[in-house]
Amino acid sequence: MLADPRLVAAAGRLGRATVKEAVARAQSRVREGVLGPEEVADAAVAALPPYAASLRPVLNMTGVLVHTNLGRAPLSPAAVEAAVAAAGYTDVEFDLEAGVRARRGRGVVCALTRAVPAAGDAHVVNNNAAALVLAATALAAGREIVISRGELVEIGDGFRIPDLLVSTGASLREVGTTNRTSRTDYAAAVGPRTGFVLKVHPSNFRIEGFTGSVGVAALTGLGVPVVADIGSGLLAREPLLPGEPDAATTLAAGADLVTASGDKLLGGPQAGLLLGRRDLVERCRRHPLARALRVDKLTLAALEATLRGPECPLHRALRADPVALRERAEALARELAAAGADARAVPAEATVGGGGAPGTRLPSAAVSLPGALAAPLRMGDPPVVGRIEGGRLLLDVRTVPAERDGDVLRAVLRAAPWAAG
Ligand SMILES: *Cc1c(COP(=O)(O)O)cnc(C)c1O
Repeated sequence: MLADPRLVAAAGRLGRATVKEAVARAQSRVREGVLGPEEVADAAVAALPPYAASLRPVLNMTGVLVHTNLGRAPLSPAAVEAAVAAAGYTDVEFDLEAGVRARRGRGVVCALTRAVPAAGDAHVVNNNAAALVLAATALAAGREIVISRGELVEIGDGFRIPDLLVSTGASLREVGTTNRTSRTDYAAAVGPRTGFVLKVHPSNFRIEGFTGSVGVAALTGLGVPVVADIGSGLLAREPLLPGEPDAATTLAAGADLVTASGDKLLGGPQAGLLLGRRDLVERCRRHPLARALRVDKLTLAALEATLRGPECPLHRALRADPVALRERAEALARELAAAGADARAVPAEATVGGGGAPGTRLPSAAVSLPGALAAPLRMGDPPVVGRIEGGRLLLDVRTVPAERDGDVLRAVLRAAPWAAG
């Protein structure tokens, strides 16, 4: 059976074990009487997975730009190319000119300090949680981290920043209350045991009403470093997201160290950034734990290309013109309706997502379809993931590049050939 040329080719691409499994499944369907013996090869070929790994590319039409369940930021073609180029042997820690060992990550550090001149130095780890753990360990283990009670954040899936910090051996010195913390609260708590003051951006919730918090600028001058977890990874101010902190502004306001994610609003691969004062970044980089949190060459390549390369897909989606979005949704709905589908274009609101800017709504447009299409579309090829609202399936076009509209159209037509709903 494995002699079928299509299966031989598939074994070369996907591995023998995967092909054998597909054949074995087809053979068991012959035993069940579902297939004829002559149909085994065809059935096995049809059942082969498209990739050697089980992760599949998905069309995100949820309208959530940074969707953690869907892999957060989509990489730019430049980042993908750079990662592919670095996939084999590469000069990640080697100076080709001198023929000696070189510093790992030098290219990305250079790109980061160029993008954020206020940062004296930069270091990259696996994610923002790792950046926080490294900063806490290198700068505050056995000492205290002063933090507002309003900033004790759960980041998702049961993971909580306070637990993460305490796991390093630092202790938390909580100040203020859930809704209000003043500079005096911080000043009273700072002392000889303080490692640093930590500001955490409440990136996935908002407290409204009788509230008060202290900005980074007001925390300088307490005689201890100010570390700011800005969350989303905006390097500079984004006019569309006025409430979202960015690294350049936060450092200019006086933060000594900023931590952020690489795969939220920065639009790159999963990574954690540490940006700021040279001596503090160096203490983090030199700490033994840094070795356990170091990033892969693929991440270094993709991150550097995101920083140096053309506008990334996430920023294109963020800045997409609402009029153009409406026109795309209308064109899709028109074609689907012409094919007999119960489809119409509707106004929608996209969000940045758990990655940041809670409460920010981006005007968008969606194709509204019968809710029953949600499951077949998710299981289609490529899978299309939308959101259900009032029993209808909304496919928000903001989170899909315009050049994929043809794929969306074909996917919906395949999922619903009866379409009329
Ligand atoms: C998302 C987030 C984190 C966690 O970042 P990861 O890169 O997912 O580890 C930490 N702090 C804030 C404020 C965040 O928004």
